[in-house]
Amino acid sequence: MHPMEEKKLLEESIDQIIAIAKNFNLDFYDMYFEICPAEIIYSFGAYGMPTRFSHWTFGKAYHKMKTQYDYNLSRIYEMVINSDPCYAFLLEGNSLVQNKMVIAHVLGHCDFFKNNYYFKKTSRNMVETMSTAAQRIRGYEFKYGRNKVEAFIDSVISLQENVDPQRYIAGDVTLTPGTKYGSSCGGHGCGGGNSCSGNKCCGGSCKDKDHDSHSKSQQNATPYDDLWDLDKKKDEGDKDQENSVKKFPEKPEKDLLMFMMNHARDLEEWQRDIISIIRNEMLYFWPQMQTKIMNEGWASYWHMRIIRELDLDEEEALEFAKMHAGVIQTSKYRINPYHLGLKIFEDIEKRWDNPTDEEKRKYRRVDGQGRQKIFEVRETENDISFIRNYLTEQLVEDLDLYLYKKVGYDWKVTDKDWEKVRDGLVRSLYNCGIPYIVVEDGDFGKRGELYLKHLHEGIDLDIYYLERTLPHVYKIWGRGVHLETVVDNKKVLFSFAGEKPTKKYL
Ligand SMILES: [Zn+2]
Repeated sequence: MHPMEEKKLLEESIDQIIAIAKNFNLDFYDMYFEICPAEIIYSFGAYGMPTRFSHWTFGKAYHKMKTQYDYNLSRIYEMVINSDPCYAFLLEGNSLVQNKMVIAHVLGHCDFFKNNYYFKKTSRNMVETMSTAAQRIRGYEFKYGRNKVEAFIDSVISLQENVDPQRYIAGDVTLTPGTKYGSSCGGHGCGGGNSCSGNKCCGGSCKDKDHDSHSKSQQNATPYDDLWDLDKKKDEGDKDQENSVKKFPEKPEKDLLMFMMNHARDLEEWQRDIISIIRNEMLYFWPQMQTKIMNEGWASYWHMRIIRELDLDEEEALEFAKMHAGVIQTSKYRINPYHLGLKIFEDIEKRWDNPTDEEKRKYRRVDGQGRQKIFEVRETENDISFIRNYLTEQLVEDLDLYLYKKVGYDWKVTDKDWEKVRDGLVRSLYNCGIPYIVVEDGDFGKRGELYLKHLHEGIDLDIYYLERTLPHVYKIWGRGVHLETVVDNKKVLFSFAGEKPTKKYL
């Protein structure tokens, strides 16, 4: 087929699929589709974003994805960005029916981005924000040297998951120099959250005390101006208690990046800016991490329904069936979020369409509420509450879910009890599966050292990784750093002060 003709067919399909999706009451931003060669899509995939700053770890992710693609091991076939308007990329060389499936699928994602509660506070112009951040980083590389900047980024990236999404600053406004995020309060990002407290939308947990004398002298137009302001306000409120001895921070602080950005004594402006950029990007990606099962389930649910409305010929129908089967293929060793999410949404719809007599009596359910119910669920839940509330005994049995662990050299099924399976799955999703670490003391031993505590949830930290990460914390903090954790049921303190990590039992 002539390329022009192909393009025309694709454009017609996009219009047709958008019309069907709207008919199903999917609610998404204006969509822009772009056809890209595989190399470009894979580098977007590795960077998570087309305009993100460059870093060698992204290159590594790209290489891995590309190798897998070349060997046909796996295939990311979708790339869609949570933004308004919404950008989605189609792979050059895909067949028309492959593209139709991707188009239908990403409309489901865009509806989810726009309507799910956990995305309400995400910036919808992150493409631009990341692009200006990347420009600033290029400027720092030019000024301070590429190696120095890259090494600092390495350190921050090694800790990037240690943020606190609960205190995510509201709205479209992101931490760029000179920006006053408070001024957008009441705007589009600020309406829905219980994290909006007062004028500042700070999450109500901005309780860090500013203990560093240097900090106050730096209240220029910096990315964290408002953070200083928050501290100042808190200080003013606490004046009468000024003389009393306080813990620092007063409460354990989960947002390690923010804490270090605010309180590490020897950082230069550009370094604080880099922490702020990486923290901001992590907070933007966090809702995608905490709704992976729901979001993929929702998009898969809709690509199926939308494609069914199209007039596919037999060959296309077969190709679609194969692709769909590939997407929801299950594995013995890990959960496929597309499959699990899809099955739960379908089960909810079925149960709310045909409530039992007891459900009718007890919850006043009426027939035929399935569709309405799944739209409500996609708006209000995240993966943890989704699994906790809607993974039923029947589903655990039907999907053959179980818990397993390594015993000696073998993997053994340890539990098939449905409630234990459900709770085990929920536990694995807690904090997006990332160890929960808090700042316990920012002035440990009155020497300005940093004392971190791992809130042990039954899984030990990877000691190899821990011992290689502590030096990065030290590099940013500039003084001795400690991490308390539990290894083999014993409390252990790991420390690093510039030479090599030490370990002692508590
Ligand atoms: Zn998807």
